[in-house]
Amino acid sequence: MSFKSLGLSEPLLRAISKKGYETPSPIQAKAIPPVLEGKDVLASAQTGTGKTAGFTLPLLHYLSENPKQKFRPIRALILTPTRELAAQVYANVKEYSEFLNLRSAVIFGGVNQKPQIATIRQGIDILVATPGRLIDLQSQGALSLKRIEVFVLDEADRMLDMGFLRDIERVMKLMPEKRQNLMFSATFSKEIKKLAYSILNNPVQVEATPENTAVEVIEQKVYRVAKSKKTGLIIKLISDGNWKQVLVFTRTKHGANRLCEKMKKAGISAAAIHGNKSQGARTKALAGFKSSKIRVLVATDIAARGLDIPLLPHVINFELPNISEDYVHRIGRTGRAGASGEAISLVSADETTYLRDIQKLIDTKIPVEIVEGFEPDPNASTEPIKQGQNANRNRGRNSNSNKSVKSKNSNRNKNRNRRRNNDKRN
Ligand code: AMP
Repeated sequence: MSFKSLGLSEPLLRAISKKGYETPSPIQAKAIPPVLEGKDVLASAQTGTGKTAGFTLPLLHYLSENPKQKFRPIRALILTPTRELAAQVYANVKEYSEFLNLRSAVIFGGVNQKPQIATIRQGIDILVATPGRLIDLQSQGALSLKRIEVFVLDEADRMLDMGFLRDIERVMKLMPEKRQNLMFSATFSKEIKKLAYSILNNPVQVEATPENTAVEVIEQKVYRVAKSKKTGLIIKLISDGNWKQVLVFTRTKHGANRLCEKMKKAGISAAAIHGNKSQGARTKALAGFKSSKIRVLVATDIAARGLDIPLLPHVINFELPNISEDYVHRIGRTGRAGASGEAISLVSADETTYLRDIQKLIDTKIPVEIVEGFEPDPNASTEPIKQGQNANRNRGRNSNSNKSVKSKNSNRNKNRNRRRNNDKRN
């Protein structure tokens, strides 16, 4: 299978070859043909599978092969949940359209809107956007979605987790009814299926390698450790292993900041990336990490979602996520494209339940090790950390969270509540 045999135009093939891609990834091989045929597509794929090119390449092919008026109404909208993902998708759009006569722009919150409005005024074919800023600029009359021909909803599951359902519904009403729709999601809950049903028209369903298969190529390890010794252990592992590029996950933004400071004190260059950081700070941290100026990037789940950092050798869970699926997303950052990767989790007694849930989800028993001098605390409680306690300690507020842990909700409700709390903390 080659990109050429998928029927992509010559300028796109040139851009693909400039990127160094030789063969389409499975999701690209499956998604590109139906998208080129103009069909609606529902794709199950997470970051790291090559999904962005999976929808961007055929989208660019269609737009360039069917040119429209000179004044360039916006013809394609790509909606993403986070600013980082929007910036990355846009970077991809720019690269793949290098040899085409197409213009694009990206808009997201947290930065000055004036330059964004100015770019749109000049006329663009493709708009990459996060929901809030899109609706904001549309209601100011700075842009119109009335001429959209292709709509892409990227990371639909995260969109719903972040509470964007209303915004998506609003955006839908601003576009013409007759259009092509592409929806990408890593997971397929009842809510996602419902959303897909409301957006897509007789969709072709495509799937990348199931998540569990990806997990199998990653070497996973658990270090049982006392909570108070986690910082010492992570510094030891990174220093002794002389690891150069390590992505570390914490559950809260405050935890990310604290750990980052301790790393720096220990002489390890580190930066934190989370929801409280300005766009500029996030971009700078990511660029420093990618160029290996920074050895350790400490991230929360939401901030890390969609980050395009290929081939990471080491991912460390400083704390386990309380949502098991997030573990799969996190460790999917390593061992990409067949390269070997190691995913390490530092697990204290109060995370025992999370570890059990994760092992159940991935259907694997993760090998456990104990490092001398960093043993687990035999007297520590194995009760899970209460969401509210953590938030209370960190933020001095949040009174509802404890209820969600104690209630006898169904698993789905439990996960939804956990997500809501996580989103606040991330
Ligand atoms: P994505 O899942 O879209 O975030 O892509 C993950 C990474 O894979 C990005 O760094 C892409 O540049 C890279 N990539 C996408 N398609 C291919 C391909 N066909 N061959 C090699 N790398 C690819």
